Amino acid sequence: MSHVKKEMISFFLTSKCNLDCIYCYTNKEASRHKNQTLSFEFAKLGIEHFIKKYPHIRFFGAGEPTQAYDLMKLIYDYSYQIVGDTLKAEMQTNGAFNKEARDWIEKHIDIIWVSFDGPPDIQDYNRPFYKSGKPSSPVIEENVKHMVANGKGLVGARVTITDNNSKRQKEMVDYFSSLGINYIWTDPLFPTVGDKPVSDDLTAKNIKPLIDMDSYLEEFIQTQKYADGKKIFYGSFLACNFDEENEYHCRACIPVPHFTTDGYISACDMSLFGEDKNHMQDFIYGKWDKENNKLIFFEDRIKQLQSRSVKNMEGCKDCPAMLHCGGYCLGEVANETGNMFGNKRYTCKSIIQLARKIDINFGRYKFLHP
Ligand code: SF4
Ligand code: SF4
Repeated sequence: MSHVKKEMISFFLTSKCNLDCIYCYTNKEASRHKNQTLSFEFAKLGIEHFIKKYPHIRFFGAGEPTQAYDLMKLIYDYSYQIVGDTLKAEMQTNGAFNKEARDWIEKHIDIIWVSFDGPPDIQDYNRPFYKSGKPSSPVIEENVKHMVANGKGLVGARVTITDNNSKRQKEMVDYFSSLGINYIWTDPLFPTVGDKPVSDDLTAKNIKPLIDMDSYLEEFIQTQKYADGKKIFYGSFLACNFDEENEYHCRACIPVPHFTTDGYISACDMSLFGEDKNHMQDFIYGKWDKENNKLIFFEDRIKQLQSRSVKNMEGCKDCPAMLHCGGYCLGEVANETGNMFGNKRYTCKSIIQLARKIDINFGRYKFLHP
């Protein structure tokens, strides 16, 4: 069942990052979580508890995983000791790391998603180096080409769509293809998690999207055909459940664990810290009891996450796309409406349009959205 099948253990390794992307708060002054790193003791406990059920590990933010390179290796090695060659490893990275990290990644990581926004002028504007402001594209191009040539698995691109690159999608396909990337997922920019929901309107009628969604969709549909002709996969997060019918949106509804730098178990990539008293607390479903070195689970939160089916959502009941959407990303929905059972209406409109215009029910995606 599509995106919900991304059953794996995610490690939010560190909040440190060497880039300073224009749409990211990690390195901005307002961030309360600078320089936090996941505890290996907590990660070990998580591995012992979950690795036999989910022999697939994933390295993710809040910052850049390779900024905690030694920890990443320790987690990999400990997981490997338990499940051996059945272990699969995945990461989402900004691609800006040194040769030592690159060599290790090439030997150990099966699925590498590089957050990459397109040709150098876009990438360097959106994703410059932290503090120096230097362009990141030269380093990333070199690393991507090297990993494509020498790595053990997939090197794909995860593109944030802004109004800067929305009209240049075909050019992006050509550019990525020239570097050897032939699997690309695009994500329209959405609001960052802050202290409060973007709106308290559960149907989010008064929220304006951060980009021109119609223009993104029009260009996306043409670009997908163009990429198809070049045998390149070109996807949209809006369509991450178009491959099969599915009443749940994603793994947050199982839930599967994401270990946070402050010692909590989260269900979602957007709920990065357990200590924040913000509106994303519904996704925090457990914590590390450090004193007794054990995991504690919050059963009421688990039950609520498991009940988040499109069939239980008032705003979805007449939707023609319901089983190819699953009620959309509950993280984004909670962030914008204050409730994971709400709806982002502007996204609904785009999903429904897209489901009418591109293929659905074609069988499972080879590589699920990052
Ligand atoms: S960000 Fe959305 S798709 Fe990703 S885990 Fe969270 S709810 Fe699921
Ligand atoms: S497109 Fe909107 S209304 Fe339709 S199932 Fe998805 S979230 Fe619900």
